[in-house]
Amino acid sequence: MPQNASRQPGRHFLQIPGPTPVPDRVLRAIDMPLIDQRGPEFSKLGKRVLEGIKTIFKTTQPVIIYTATGTGAWEAALSNTLSPGDRVLMVETGQFATLWKVMAERLGLKPEFIKTDWRVGADPKVIEEHLRKDKAQEIKAVCVVHSETATGCMSSIAEIRKAIDAAGHPALLLVDTISSLASTDYRHDEWGVDVSIGGAQKGLMLPPGMSFNAVSEKALRASKTAKLPRSFFQWDDMLTMYKNGYFPYTPATQMLYGLDTSITMLHEEGLDNVFARHDRLAEATRRAVRAWGLEILCRDPKYYSPTVTAVLLPDGHDADQFRGVALNTFNISYGASFGPYVKKYFRIGHLGDINDATLIGALGAAEMTLTLAGVPHKKGGVQAAMDYIASSQNTVARAAAE
Ligand code: PLP
Repeated sequence: MPQNASRQPGRHFLQIPGPTPVPDRVLRAIDMPLIDQRGPEFSKLGKRVLEGIKTIFKTTQPVIIYTATGTGAWEAALSNTLSPGDRVLMVETGQFATLWKVMAERLGLKPEFIKTDWRVGADPKVIEEHLRKDKAQEIKAVCVVHSETATGCMSSIAEIRKAIDAAGHPALLLVDTISSLASTDYRHDEWGVDVSIGGAQKGLMLPPGMSFNAVSEKALRASKTAKLPRSFFQWDDMLTMYKNGYFPYTPATQMLYGLDTSITMLHEEGLDNVFARHDRLAEATRRAVRAWGLEILCRDPKYYSPTVTAVLLPDGHDADQFRGVALNTFNISYGASFGPYVKKYFRIGHLGDINDATLIGALGAAEMTLTLAGVPHKKGGVQAAMDYIASSQNTVARAAAE
């Protein structure tokens, strides 16, 4: 930004992996007068969103909606299903898995943490081996972050389900879908997930402040005997009120208006098209990074997340400085780095309400910033991304014409 300017023109490019840009249509849906949360109009809205959100988790079972960020929904998942001293199996895929494990410890659980170098997702074989060793079947839950937002690595929940079954283990499966839901395929029922934890501010294109627990019958049964203390997060209270479309406490009515609209928008685009768009944007981003001659943090393609790509800078280059130059010069935000890699990478979020042209802008700003920040790289990243997008859109256009 020029030194004598106090305003940056144009829209800010919010290329962090959440919160993501909120579409104008959602903002307009939220911009409504408040209504009585015990009145008939609210009941209709409540019933509509409580049913609608099930289609996003691909479940016919209840989905609980909290006025809390994703961290609250993590706590709800653990506290409704587990008891003090319970052993839980977690995988250190990155920063968010680590924070979830810290929460488990604080709540009095005994997490067993499978280590990784933060450059891969959770390996189902390692989970299976760990569960097989638990002959007394004392591990009560396997907790996995589907898309580790901090690293850009995704784990296969279908494979992890198979691993738990192959070990013949009765542990519950708890999955954090915060940066995957509504961006990549997710099947709560089909994959036998017991609690799926979601957040508003990523694929659902909403402001932060709302989160979800999709719960299986097995999880509901576990909640009857689970002894961890809980009050605000108590599932029972919510489910009783949901029968008539109400909440046990003052609901975030405006957010529910937004959610109603975002669910409609996702279905208007078609979930499969939403997922294909995210795959295309992710692949275009990775091609740009490779063309720059830079390294993708996620080191095994089978774990690539379709929602975020972390880009390692060469040794001696500070990723926070890179992000600062990008923000000041191009009015664009990229995601920060964490843990052992702090300042070593920046993240390009490619999820939520963004399209091909937005992504090309975001990659263009990144390529220019590499030059301005003095990071050695090759030119042609944006060209590689454009070539990929143009060829995939050409295939789509031809298929539509046939
Ligand atoms: N889990 C994942 C995968 C996340 O990306 C985040 C936040 O970005 C969280 C959990 C924590 O959610 P919140 O910040 O909404 O509390």
